[in-house]
Amino acid sequence: MKPLLIDGAWITTSHAEENRNPSNTDEVIGLYAHAGRAETQAAIEAARLSFPAWAASTPQFRFEILNKVADELTLRKSEIASLLSREEGKTLREGLQETERAANIFRFFAGECLRPAGDLIPSVRPDVSVEVTREPLGVVGIVTPWNFPLAIPSWKIAPALCYGNTVVFKPAELVPGCAWVLAEILHGTGIPKGVFNLVTGKGSVVGNTMLSARDVEAVTFTGSQAVGSLVAQASIKHMRKLQLEMGGKNPLVVLDDADLDLAVDCAVDGAFYSTGQRCTASSRLIVTEGIYGRFIEKLTEKCRGLTVGDALDPATDIGPVASASQLATDIDYIEIARAQGGNLRCGGDIVKGHNHGYFLQPALFTDTDNNMRINREEVFGPVASVIRVRDYEEALATSNDTDFGLCSGIMTTSLKHAAHFRRESRAGMVMVNLPTAGVDYHVPFGGRKASSYGPREQGRYAAEFFSTVKTSYIRP
Ligand code: NAP
Repeated sequence: MKPLLIDGAWITTSHAEENRNPSNTDEVIGLYAHAGRAETQAAIEAARLSFPAWAASTPQFRFEILNKVADELTLRKSEIASLLSREEGKTLREGLQETERAANIFRFFAGECLRPAGDLIPSVRPDVSVEVTREPLGVVGIVTPWNFPLAIPSWKIAPALCYGNTVVFKPAELVPGCAWVLAEILHGTGIPKGVFNLVTGKGSVVGNTMLSARDVEAVTFTGSQAVGSLVAQASIKHMRKLQLEMGGKNPLVVLDDADLDLAVDCAVDGAFYSTGQRCTASSRLIVTEGIYGRFIEKLTEKCRGLTVGDALDPATDIGPVASASQLATDIDYIEIARAQGGNLRCGGDIVKGHNHGYFLQPALFTDTDNNMRINREEVFGPVASVIRVRDYEEALATSNDTDFGLCSGIMTTSLKHAAHFRRESRAGMVMVNLPTAGVDYHVPFGGRKASSYGPREQGRYAAEFFSTVKTSYIRP
């Protein structure tokens, strides 16, 4: 059994669960401990007790710890990427990219440990100066989803530790393996006991215990809007600092003057790579009528050519769906879209010949309306739909007509339309002539409306969430 990490010790539990490879469900990846309330409370207490010393540790010490994690992730890149692909179903190429990204995030925040922070501001009063400094928060609870099992934990754990907080980390139940490797690496750096704690297990047990604990000063959560709302409700009575990153229904607008080949490539990448299981996936393709026919033809041809298969097979473009329940959700939405009048142009079938994995041929719907459920609700699978619009104005209005606001994109050669879209799109991230799904590791990440709540993740903006500002007035 792969144990929990609490107060610097590996702890086994009476209950453990297997995780399996979604490319081949006969393959058991490992057996992972499931924490109960008592173990979760012990992890929170360990994080509380270790906080003062960690907060007072030198930036150089924290820099060295985070750099060691980055180095180890780089050194073990192939092994970790392969585990990621076997556990979550991303192709090996995507698994390698995610592992490199995790290493870069730790390296970035290692550097941030040493960045001078704060301001010295003259007071309006004579002989008084005002110092603005940043301080850590305390125990930070980290709750993550299954779709980026290494990168998302890294972009929360690295800044939490960088700014002097201690951590209780609860990964998604589906992907304990990557979380465990991260814990093993952190433990191996010589990080003081209790500063980082891993509690694998169920959201309803570990997550709930974390949310009801008074000593958890802040929670950073990435996952569905439904669970995000629960996290918010449970946190309000503690007036806890919150960062919620949730779903998306991201539009990619294709205008008449777009480079057709580039538009098709970006649509396929944004909609279907990582099996469409990205919060930034381009699930709504909004296309103006002058290019509509040509775009659909080329896009269909390209979709039909995508190879769906085992995540570790180098010939695979699209790996498996991550779980049986996600596959059932995808199939449900395909049926709903059909019933509401969508035209299933290609894909949507379970791939034959792969009886032991969750393989779905990417589904492309045309003739859809922005009010159909497939265009209002997040599917989180390889299912995308095309909406035909008259012109740029209608495309912009349709792209903004959604409860979500994570990422949006536009394909155009018109500087005027690109600049207008960048300004008027109600999304946290805007892409011009790029897929909606590829983001850098060192710049702000997050959205608006139902997609995000609280300060941005990643880059220097992460300091807003992981630290608090103190204003001191000093008369010498
Ligand atoms: P989820 O079902 O909401 O789960 C997210 C995390 O919350 C998991 O660790 C889960 O644990 C935990 N959880 C479940 N119930 C809980 C409770 N009552 N209290 C506390 N924690 C609880 O989401 P998911 O299916 O893993 O991930 C897919 C979602 O994540 C999609 O909506 C996607 O858009 C979103 N996402 C957003 C971003 C972004 O940055 N905006 C990035 C990636 C993914 P269990 O696994 O044990 O249930």
